[in-house]
Amino acid sequence: MLRSVILAASRSSRVERLVATAPFTRDVVRRFVAGAKTDDALRATRELVDDGLAVTLDNLGEDTVTPDQANAIRDEYLRLLKLLAGAGLTPAAEVSVKLSALGQTFDEQLAYDNARAISAAADEAGTTVTLDMEDHTTTDSTLDILAKLRKDHPSTGAVLQAYLRRTESDCRELASAGSRVRLCKGAYKEPESVAYQSAREVDKSYVRCLNILMSGDGYPMLATHDPRLIAIGEDRARWFDRGPERFEFQMLYGIRPEEQARLVGEGYTVRTYLPYGEDWYGYLMRRLAERPANLAFFGRALISKK
Ligand SMILES: Cc1cc2nc3c(=O)[nH]c(=O)nc-3n(C[C@H](O)[C@H](O)[C@H](O)COP(=O)(O)OP(=O)(O)OC[C@H]3O[C@@H](n4cnc5c(N)ncnc54)[C@H](O)[C@@H]3O)c2cc1C
Repeated sequence: MLRSVILAASRSSRVERLVATAPFTRDVVRRFVAGAKTDDALRATRELVDDGLAVTLDNLGEDTVTPDQANAIRDEYLRLLKLLAGAGLTPAAEVSVKLSALGQTFDEQLAYDNARAISAAADEAGTTVTLDMEDHTTTDSTLDILAKLRKDHPSTGAVLQAYLRRTESDCRELASAGSRVRLCKGAYKEPESVAYQSAREVDKSYVRCLNILMSGDGYPMLATHDPRLIAIGEDRARWFDRGPERFEFQMLYGIRPEEQARLVGEGYTVRTYLPYGEDWYGYLMRRLAERPANLAFFGRALISKK
């Protein structure tokens, strides 16, 4: 019910105008999104890097349904990478890319070609690309494209979602030398046939996957705000003798900034996921709709910086 209301709101330009002009919204958006323009993204990146954080930038796009839209997103990433390198922000800053934004839903080859162009630009800029993971119907296609990209760009990062039943096996597959893997809980509403449904089961799966990645040969990227999982990550880092160059923590921009700073202070590598772009409204609303619990997630973040 709540999900349908939020989804309806996300499609309504009247609600968008209302939300976009409300004073409260500006604070929410500023807290979670760098801004609408590439310059805003560069400014926020500079601040984070000056604070000792690494960054991964996500250009927010609305649903991509035409090749022109897909190519425009690719071009924005190419521009961004040049600007990041020019500003001396690479390799601390890399980019996160959604294949759906590059055309995956209607033309897989186009999405691959676009991702390849972005990976080549990232190489030139001296940094890396991570492929975000979307709903489970795209997992195989995304992992196929990842495998193809890694032939020429071995540092391309993958994302695996602990809520999927298949993920332990994907972790085993990807825990090899040079393989960058972001482990997150997963943000989409998925059916029981493919995904654990309870928080407890998801958390247990996260720990099993974390153990596989931290004991393997790859480069684990532990993306979570969950204090218990972060503590387990710290414990395994000590156990497997992984220093700051051999794994990292990742969190979203605006969420638990004090915890991000604490981990940096402890000497860990911490990367902030920084979204920017005109389409922040769709981004925030879809995050809420995908998981109405995110209302609490964002609400909690506004109240607490810890
Ligand atoms: C860097 C990054 C990249 C991501 N990429 C993807 C992706 O490609 N695909 C995808 O499906 N999902 C992605 N996600 C989203 C992810 O899957 C989860 O939906 C999201 O991170 C929430 O899960 P959580 O692990 O943070 O813990 P939750 O289960 O949301 O929270 C667990 C506990 O963490 C603490 N906590 C959480 N939020 C807050 C807060 N705001 N303030 C204070 N304490 C808090 C609380 O103690 C809470 O009980 C990404 C997340 C991150 C951080």
